[in-house]
Amino acid sequence: LTPADAAPAADPSAAPSALAASPLATEVERRRTFAIISHPDAGKTTLTEKLLLFGGAINLAGEVKAKKNRRDTRSDWMSIERERGISVVTSVMTFDYRDRVFNLLDTPGHEDFSEDTYRTLTAVDSAVMVIDAAKGIEARTRKLFEVCRLRDIPIVTFINKMDRESRDPFELLDEIEKTLALDTAPLTWPLGRGRDFVGTFDIERGGVRLLDSKDDGHDSGGPPIPMEVPEIAALNPNLDAGEIAHELELVTEVCPRFDLAAFREGHLTPVFFGSALKNFGVRDLLDGLHRFAPSPRAQDSDAGPIDPADPRMSAFVFKIQANMDPNHRDRIAFARLCSGKLTRGMKARLVRTGKPMTLATPHFFFAQDRSIADEAFAGDVVGIPNHGTLRIGDTLTEGRDITFVGVPSFAPEILRRVRLSDAMKAKKLKQALQELAEEGVVQVFRPSDGSPALVGVVGPLQLDVLKARLAAEYGLPVEFDLAEFQLARWIAADDKAKLEEFIAANRSGIAEDLDGDLVYLARNEFYLGYTRERAPGIVFTDVKETQ
Ligand code: GDP
Repeated sequence: LTPADAAPAADPSAAPSALAASPLATEVERRRTFAIISHPDAGKTTLTEKLLLFGGAINLAGEVKAKKNRRDTRSDWMSIERERGISVVTSVMTFDYRDRVFNLLDTPGHEDFSEDTYRTLTAVDSAVMVIDAAKGIEARTRKLFEVCRLRDIPIVTFINKMDRESRDPFELLDEIEKTLALDTAPLTWPLGRGRDFVGTFDIERGGVRLLDSKDDGHDSGGPPIPMEVPEIAALNPNLDAGEIAHELELVTEVCPRFDLAAFREGHLTPVFFGSALKNFGVRDLLDGLHRFAPSPRAQDSDAGPIDPADPRMSAFVFKIQANMDPNHRDRIAFARLCSGKLTRGMKARLVRTGKPMTLATPHFFFAQDRSIADEAFAGDVVGIPNHGTLRIGDTLTEGRDITFVGVPSFAPEILRRVRLSDAMKAKKLKQALQELAEEGVVQVFRPSDGSPALVGVVGPLQLDVLKARLAAEYGLPVEFDLAEFQLARWIAADDKAKLEEFIAANRSGIAEDLDGDLVYLARNEFYLGYTRERAPGIVFTDVKETQ
């Protein structure tokens, strides 16, 4: 088969970069910061492991797996602690691939699904969407995709588990287009299905990659092998030359061609087929990321977008993780660098308080050799140890008075009241909840009628963690009671008088969050809808962004 007549998609690495000038700009330009989004069991862990393997970051696949197995007993506090110690290291995995530096941010994806997962997506410039070929788009994938869409994060799709019985690939593409309103441009095409899957056809370049050709990440991969359809069909007695020819014709004629601009704008996704388990298609994916994934984007701040190549360092905190030792309120704040260069020992300004903060021991994460670097560049993620000084959404700068916007809080899906066995400790509980809310473990809502605070979480594991940490770190044994409210929505109105009127009329359902922003608590969807309808001019939102 001769190379398909599809013109090779524009290769941004070949184009002169607008940034390519200073050494700083060159460093920034080669960063690619991304996350993997998927539904549990689609193969994220396996793919992460293989990306690191192909990126030369680990020698033996298996490290990521080991971490995951330790996760099994979900309510065991020690295992949460252990997990946390480990995940501080794996929250960001940095590896070099060819001339680029990839930062892969981990998005916890199982029962420990929480706001962290969403917030991590504010710190990436692109995402890989992993889909199980037998299942298609699943609930969690869709949810995470919506968060990416809000931020116009470009998505590269990897359809995994092609070595197993799968759905028809055309049907899978159709499902992506219909349910996500996202155009698909397949760059590879599976030859055979399930047990008869023999490899993929490279749609851009023509040629075939075979499943049994040993690519274990240690060689360079090489170009696809030119092969005629009858040759392909001869690889497996269950393959039909006519069918293959028809499919390849269809896919080159019907499917949209890859278009870099449409991808970067978030309207189109390049699609790769493969099997993470069998190391298959992973290099194509990595090459795809290398070619298409964008370098660090300009981040929005209250002073407008901040150019990543601006030499003045700036960063925002998107995740906070308590350290291993429960006796010290040590935390690691994960900050995404948005501009300039961060060096060990530099003095930064914490914009929320206006106070200086010396970044004495920033942690840098290089899975490659586990060495500690002394500098990081826009696009990188650093861990900053602190004792509670830093909050989620905080901005750090090299003196400038800007604040990054858009780190979201999500309306909780579970609301509970905290019940103390010892009522005398109410004040201590209040303080503890405040601290843990600042850390992003839970959200706290204080009703304006003075009734006890409610805690809100997005995923149930957050409640387990809250309970365990209140006991271990504050000596506060607690239980959770169902609250009379199930839903929380932030409320706002352009017309102040209207808002006052609404508050007066709904007093028992009004609360304030950690930042003092107003929240309406509703008994259920029905009440929420009812109240909403009768309150024109009041805006109810389920996502709040720092501003
Ligand atoms: P995660 O929950 O998304 O992190 O998924 P895992 O990577 O843990 O994979 C879930 C299960 O699917 C595991 O048993 C994997 O071995 C298996 N798996 C992952 N990728 C593939 C694949 O390409 N083919 C097959 N047959 N199984 C896979």
